[in-house]
Amino acid sequence: MFDLNNIIRPNIKALKPYSCARDEFKGEASVFLDANENPYNAPFNRYPDPLQWAVKGRISVIKGVAKESIFLGNGSDEPIDLMYRAFCEPRVDNVVAINPTYGMYEVCADINDIEYRKVELDENFQFSADKLLAKADEHTKVMWLCSPNNPTGNLLASGEIEKLLKAFNGIVVVDEAYIDFAETVSFAKKLAQFPNLVVLQTFSKAWGSAAIRLGMAFASTAIISVLHTSKYPYNVNILTQKQALELLGNANQVSDWVNTLKAERSNLVNELQKLAIVTHIYPTDANFILTKVKDACATYNHLVSRGIIVRNRHSVTLCGNCLRITVGTPEENAILLSELKKL
Ligand SMILES: *Cc1c(COP(=O)(O)O)cnc(C)c1O
Repeated sequence: MFDLNNIIRPNIKALKPYSCARDEFKGEASVFLDANENPYNAPFNRYPDPLQWAVKGRISVIKGVAKESIFLGNGSDEPIDLMYRAFCEPRVDNVVAINPTYGMYEVCADINDIEYRKVELDENFQFSADKLLAKADEHTKVMWLCSPNNPTGNLLASGEIEKLLKAFNGIVVVDEAYIDFAETVSFAKKLAQFPNLVVLQTFSKAWGSAAIRLGMAFASTAIISVLHTSKYPYNVNILTQKQALELLGNANQVSDWVNTLKAERSNLVNELQKLAIVTHIYPTDANFILTKVKDACATYNHLVSRGIIVRNRHSVTLCGNCLRITVGTPEENAILLSELKKL
């Protein structure tokens, strides 16, 4: 049985959270003399809403997740780091993750001095719940999944994710940074079923807003409360909150971008297939394509010399001679293809 009380670090459980002026007084007022703010330079003189309720209200409608089940952070990087700070005791606890996957899970484990255990994906870039469970012990607090996965581009089998959620007594994180480019439903729809599920999404990819640094975590209200208790009080600034509100009022624009990028993705796959240097193109559910070429480093260097930057993944597990190519505008993709055709 999953029991959140067994997962939270003792110091976090005992924590008396910082109480800011904006927490203490809730309600309508016209004269605010409680937070030592400068009365001039509105609206930037006031501390922002520490729990970002206006932004969460909009996200709640779009994602079909209750406001109280949403955490917002300074990019997904913040909830990733908080999973360690809130749940993993340095030098005692450990986490288990698929390999290869997004690099930040391991970097944050290292920073927090938490053992990071890797389990290699199979040749189709799928994982086995049993293999992850076999790596775990009584100190395993979190398992990291990423679907669609980075850098491989594929969705993980949802049956296997559910099997892990049922069998593992710790937290399972499903990072869905690329979910908008996939033909599937989000695991955020299954929060009621799985008290140990944390789903990550972000404004950095489909929402076209990597610069504003806004990441989302969806989970049970109990898990979200722990993240709220552990975060910096004003972790999402007012410029980001305002820009997010504007964007959330313009969701049609976002789906237009996504549709264009999906069409460009198919086109790019078709064109890459015709090239002699391309030896394999992996199936993708994301806004990038992982492709194996004859000599990844030579191709990468040629592209760099022409001012075109892709990601060389040659040194990554299971990704020998692979390049990860982000789908760009039709013009950018045409420039890439014309350079690749010269090789
Ligand atoms: C790009 C990416 C993110 C986004 O991180 P932010 O901090 O929100 O910009 C998260 N997870 C994965 C797997 C990614 O590839």
